[in-house]
Amino acid sequence: MNPRAIDTSQRPFVLVWELTQACELACKHCRADAKPNRHPDELTTAEGQQLLDEAAQFGDGQLVVLSGGDPLAREDAAELVQYGTDAGLRMTLTPSGTASLTRDSIDELADAGLQRVALSIDGGSAEAHDAFRKENGSFDQTVAAAEAAKSAGLPLQVNTTVCAETVDELPKIRQLVEDLGAVLWSVFFLVPVGRGRVLDPISPARAEGVMEWLSHVADEARFGVKTTEAPHYRRVVAQRGSDSTDRPSADSIGRRAGITAGNGFAFVSHIGKVYPSGFLPQSAGNVREQSVVDIYRNSDLFRSLRDPDALRGKCGACEFRHLCGGSRSRAFAYTQDPLESDPLCDYVPDGYEGQLPEQTFTARDASTAD
Ligand code: SF4
Repeated sequence: MNPRAIDTSQRPFVLVWELTQACELACKHCRADAKPNRHPDELTTAEGQQLLDEAAQFGDGQLVVLSGGDPLAREDAAELVQYGTDAGLRMTLTPSGTASLTRDSIDELADAGLQRVALSIDGGSAEAHDAFRKENGSFDQTVAAAEAAKSAGLPLQVNTTVCAETVDELPKIRQLVEDLGAVLWSVFFLVPVGRGRVLDPISPARAEGVMEWLSHVADEARFGVKTTEAPHYRRVVAQRGSDSTDRPSADSIGRRAGITAGNGFAFVSHIGKVYPSGFLPQSAGNVREQSVVDIYRNSDLFRSLRDPDALRGKCGACEFRHLCGGSRSRAFAYTQDPLESDPLCDYVPDGYEGQLPEQTFTARDASTAD
């Protein structure tokens, strides 16, 4: 399937299902504010299977990411991968770097049809990564899991959070991504929700420099590079005249540039609420009451997020709003308005004289945790 052929008004390129918020780790950046135990009202196996059947109605080869918490905290994770695969979905998984991630569990997931595994690396050494994830041994378990994935023939994606605490680690992490043979490096620019509210984001000027550096990495590296919650990376790449955001990835999943909350992306929480992104805590419905297809295509919230001309402030005045559009999740975290400007962007459109967004986080419970 050609990812660029997907009409994002009709289907997401990525549908994330947060299987559970349960996780052994207590990472500083955790969007889910993960808990040690499973929530009693999580979607059951049968409800999850119904959700996967609905996801298949989006069309051929819909991409589904099983996330958490730690999705492997549910004993039916492999069963759900198998169910989704049989329904024609392309199933991927983002496990935590915990003891649940054994060679056996990876082999079981590969046998069930898993097409890619995404592991988080937030430091270039065991010391830095384990301090960020608050768990000794997490780095070694993650590297062992990456090697197990390689032996099982599973393509690997590495996810990294960029914030003040991790930004200096990026060159070392870049080398690890290469050494581990990953097909894609997904670089997440912190949005202050969940436990991530205690972390410091980097400044807009620093973010600009990181994105320029990433675009050079993307030109040279064997792996693909994508950003999460930082669509202005596309603007930075376009201003450089590079084509690195549109290069296909080296596995069957492919890549699709220009995805933003609700526009090519949807998130189903552990209790079935549907959000434009896991970092934008405005729900448009619940899969227990309405089909995820209907919510994605027809809810007012998702429709408004797909209209770049509805954006306000600096993003609304920006000539790059159709290419970029800013992070709607970050706009919401700072202003409680998902259509406002993204405060992480340093760019000021020519002739723009309106208000510039302030990067002052307003304390509120912005987590999607229920
Ligand atoms: S001002 Fe908004 S739309 Fe323009 S590049 Fe920055 S984030 Fe993107």
